[in-house]
Amino acid sequence: MIVVMRPDHTPEQVQAVMGRLVQFGLQGQPIQGVERSVIAGLGQVMQDHRDEISMMAGVDEVIRVTKPYKLSSRETHPKPTIVELSHGVKVGGGRPVFMAGPCAIETEDQIMTAARGVRKAGAHVLRGGAFKPRTSPYSFQGLGLDALKLLRTAGDEVGMPVITECLSERDVDLCAQYSDVLQIGARNMQNFVLLQEAGKTGKPVLLKRGMSATIEEWLLASEYIMSQNNPNVMLCERGIRTFETATRNTLDLNALAMVKRLSHLPVIADPSHGTGKWYLVRPMSMASIAAGADGLMIEVHPNPDHALSDGAQSLTPNNFGELAADVRVLAEALSRPFAEPPAALASA
Ligand code: PEP
Ligand code: MN
Repeated sequence: MIVVMRPDHTPEQVQAVMGRLVQFGLQGQPIQGVERSVIAGLGQVMQDHRDEISMMAGVDEVIRVTKPYKLSSRETHPKPTIVELSHGVKVGGGRPVFMAGPCAIETEDQIMTAARGVRKAGAHVLRGGAFKPRTSPYSFQGLGLDALKLLRTAGDEVGMPVITECLSERDVDLCAQYSDVLQIGARNMQNFVLLQEAGKTGKPVLLKRGMSATIEEWLLASEYIMSQNNPNVMLCERGIRTFETATRNTLDLNALAMVKRLSHLPVIADPSHGTGKWYLVRPMSMASIAAGADGLMIEVHPNPDHALSDGAQSLTPNNFGELAADVRVLAEALSRPFAEPPAALASA
């Protein structure tokens, strides 16, 4: 249930509602909006609970949330959530962003060249994997801590927030120490302990959709993060497994539009993993923005032919620059122009 407080409510009245929820065996989570203050009552909510709370002082109304996911539902939070990263970058609320960089960080030269290239093309967030979830244990697994340090240095040098994947609960603190945003990969979408640990850091979290997850499962997974009092969740559609073999995955454009309708959380499209082919990334970027995506995550490598992971779907910095220019034109035509890139560094 959602408990909507009256505009003139007092902090004591909020405390009283929270206390009553606990007595009912429910979890109370205050959500401070610009226009209204609400408390989400989470758990097995009964009609009696709703009736009693609705009579308490300071309560305006009690709304039943019909969806199984509560905190991420538009029923709870009708306005879009805007997730603030560092360097003034905001995700959600109408102006898309680019997150770009290599699949995996390989060398200092590689990440610096990629960082400068995507920065020049107007990207907002620098991506780079340090811990890589590879199908084969014999494939490159990422440089771990060394990569986190290189990513941080590269981000600081070009003045961009950085994002990297946390592969296990073991890595959460380390990733949170070096990265502005934590990515939860498709293979871990239902690693509920990892989701809770990532949520506890308070850092923005990008939650990729599992390759066989339904939209409902994906939104329920987001609740594990949000229920740690962390509203800073971004969803990422990265393609699902279908019968098709001509492409690596099937980028689910339906899901982008559907999730925008069901949830207030920003949703990012990843046409790199969604297609697995560098030449499909541009058309699917266009389609994703047209479908309502709040941003694009795109793999960019200075030398895709020699990439240690996902070279076939990676763009060169030049190709990314061309893509970014084209997608910006489309976004303008849709009256949803891209956000301004982070301000230039004073020393740059
Ligand atoms: C990645 O972003 O490089 C990655 C491994 O993504 P996914 O979890 O979507 O496969
Ligand atoms: Mn990848």
